[in-house]
Amino acid sequence: MSETDLAELLASFERVCPPSPFGIPYHAQFAGSGRRKEHLLIGFITHGNERGTLPAAVRLAKELASGAIKPAGPVSLLLGNVAACERDVRFVEEDFNRVFTFDRPADSLERRRAEEVRPLLDDVDFFLDIHQTQTPTESSFWTFPWIDDLGKWARVIGAAPLGLTRKNQGAFSVGRCCLDEYVRARGKLGLTAEMGEKGWDETQAEETYQSCARLISAYDAVMTGASDLDSLACESNEIEWFETRDVVPAESSDHRLREGVGNWQSVREGELLSPPGGPEIRAKESGRILFPKYAKPGDPPPPELFRLGVAIDDPARTFSGG
Ligand SMILES: [Zn+2]
Repeated sequence: MSETDLAELLASFERVCPPSPFGIPYHAQFAGSGRRKEHLLIGFITHGNERGTLPAAVRLAKELASGAIKPAGPVSLLLGNVAACERDVRFVEEDFNRVFTFDRPADSLERRRAEEVRPLLDDVDFFLDIHQTQTPTESSFWTFPWIDDLGKWARVIGAAPLGLTRKNQGAFSVGRCCLDEYVRARGKLGLTAEMGEKGWDETQAEETYQSCARLISAYDAVMTGASDLDSLACESNEIEWFETRDVVPAESSDHRLREGVGNWQSVREGELLSPPGGPEIRAKESGRILFPKYAKPGDPPPPELFRLGVAIDDPARTFSGG
């Protein structure tokens, strides 16, 4: 895939999509047959350089526009941060997936885009946000707090065999708000899938398309009463769940994660995770590394260096009463 392909993908998306009822650029909404009222939204390129699933968005748009996919009710597709995607950067001025707080003036490109997108998020009942990771990953995975039926929906959608979850206690990053969090804060369902490492990838595009098609079909079946979520979940592959047990910040500008750590890398309790010579960081428990973050040379370390996930048998039991 090249820059020309990117321009062509964005142009085909715009070409096949009906005008957004909210006037939002790169938002496509398809009404469906009217057998369900609930509004389903699927998000892509919330981070600009996560381009790999864009072909899936365009394929879905084409099939929804042509009637090859006939949903029972409204289905929306949103290309989140096209400006960043065109520059192949995670974001232009501010992380689009952190600015849904609406607690200050919209003084960045991403905050203005958030204002633009807000009426759509205020309208949806179910939101699947499709991402790619910034660093290598051994697997695709889910990431969301353990709420309601999200675990069952994840299983039905089938986008990933692994899941990172946590007790439901507010924001992913304190003082910041992601798109899916914004939807959950409204009492609706929102979940995120990381399909693989960022960049063009035919397998990820295909798996994303298949997962979204399964979601549309399952959402129709559950919302129209043709099937129920429990039955559909039981027919789908189980997910191996991990709990976020530690979120490791950079305590000083010298605190770093050692080189070459990827998502889902196994670590033993006490294992040294910092580079030689720097302040020591050790794994608090045996588990897996998630969202490892590295600064560019000369830059200070990111506020959060990594998360530690530990396997749990049954999130529903682990988080019961929470
Ligand atoms: Zn992302």
